[in-house]
Amino acid sequence: MIIGIECTAHTFGVGIVDKGKILANVRDMYVPASGGIVPMESAKHHREVSERLWNEALAKAGIDEKKIEAIALSNAPGLSPCLIAGLHFAKEKAKKLGVQIVPVNHCIAHLEIGRSVGATDPVLLYASGANTQIIAFASGKYRIFGETLDLGIGNFIDKFARHAGMGFPGGPKIEAAAKTGKYIDDLPYSIKGMDVSFSGMQTKLQQLYDKGAKLEDLSYSLQETAFPMLVEAAERAMAHTGKKELVLGGGVGCNARLQEMCRIMCEEREAKFFCPERQYLIDNGGMIAYTGEIMFNSGIKMEADKVDIAPRERTDDVKVTWR
Ligand code: AMP
Ligand code: MG
Repeated sequence: MIIGIECTAHTFGVGIVDKGKILANVRDMYVPASGGIVPMESAKHHREVSERLWNEALAKAGIDEKKIEAIALSNAPGLSPCLIAGLHFAKEKAKKLGVQIVPVNHCIAHLEIGRSVGATDPVLLYASGANTQIIAFASGKYRIFGETLDLGIGNFIDKFARHAGMGFPGGPKIEAAAKTGKYIDDLPYSIKGMDVSFSGMQTKLQQLYDKGAKLEDLSYSLQETAFPMLVEAAERAMAHTGKKELVLGGGVGCNARLQEMCRIMCEEREAKFFCPERQYLIDNGGMIAYTGEIMFNSGIKMEADKVDIAPRERTDDVKVTWR
C-alpha cells in the first residue's frame, strides 16, 4: 500500500495505490487571485491543505495509515517552494509512520499512469501548463524526444486568454469559444524536428485580437494550429521509436479536440491511443502513488532524511533501475 503526494506546482494531491489499483485520489488546487502562479503562495496553500487531504485520502480508501508501506513523493521537477512544502510534509509523515520515501519524477508519472488504462510502452504527449514534452522510454532511459522551445502549450493558451480578458484557466474557455469559430489561415505553424514553439503564434493572435478579429475564430484557429504541431511531433517520435502506443498527459489533454486529433493520428498509423480520465490527466497524487509503487516493488526507497528536492531534474537525468 503506497500513498503518493503531488506538490510540484499549483496542485496538492494525495493518492493511495494497492497492487496497481488506485483506491483514492484527492486534490486541491491553488488558484492565483490574478496572473500566474506565485510559488510562495502556492507553497503556503500546500501547507494549509496537506493534512486535510491526507486524511481524506485515507478515509476514501478506507484504510488505516498504519497500512502504508511507503510514501511516494513528486520531488522533481517543479517550483522549489512547492516541492519543499511537499518534502517537509512527506518527511514528517514518513518519520511518524516509520516508513521510507520513494522519490518520483513528476513527468515520468504522467507517462506511467498510462499503464493503468492499458498502455505498455507508450510515447507520452505531455501537454500541461508549464510543460510540453514528448517522452518515451528508450534504451534504458525515459528520453525527451521533443519539447517546447519557449512556452508550455497551456501557458501559451492562458496568456492569450488573459490578453483577451477571458480569465484563468483559459483552456476550457478557448475550447468552448472554438466550437463556433472559423479558420484563420495566418498563424505561424512552428515545429522543428520534434520541438515546437508558441511565442510567434501568441504574438500573432494578440495582434489579430487587437485589430478586432473574432474571439471564436481566434480560438478555433489556435486549436487547429497548435494542436497539430503537438500531434505531428508525437507522431514523429512514434515513427522514430517504432512504438505503437500514445498516451496523453497534462491539463491540456482534457481538450476534446486535441484528444480527437491524437485518436485520428493513431488510427491512421494503426497505433493505440490511451487517454486517462480527467482526474489522472491533470496533476494528481494517484499517478505519483502508482509510479511510486512500481519503483518501490523494484527496491527503490530512501530514508526520509536522505530525500531532497530536484527542481530542475530532467526526465532523462533519472537513473532508471525499475524497468
Ligand atoms: P496542468 O498544468 O497539467 O495542471 O494543466 C493546466 C493547463 O491546462 C492550463 O493551462 C489550462 O488552461 C489547460 N487546460 C485545462 N483544460 C483545458 C481544455 N479543455 N483545453 C485546453 N487547455 C486546457
Ligand atoms: Mg503535470
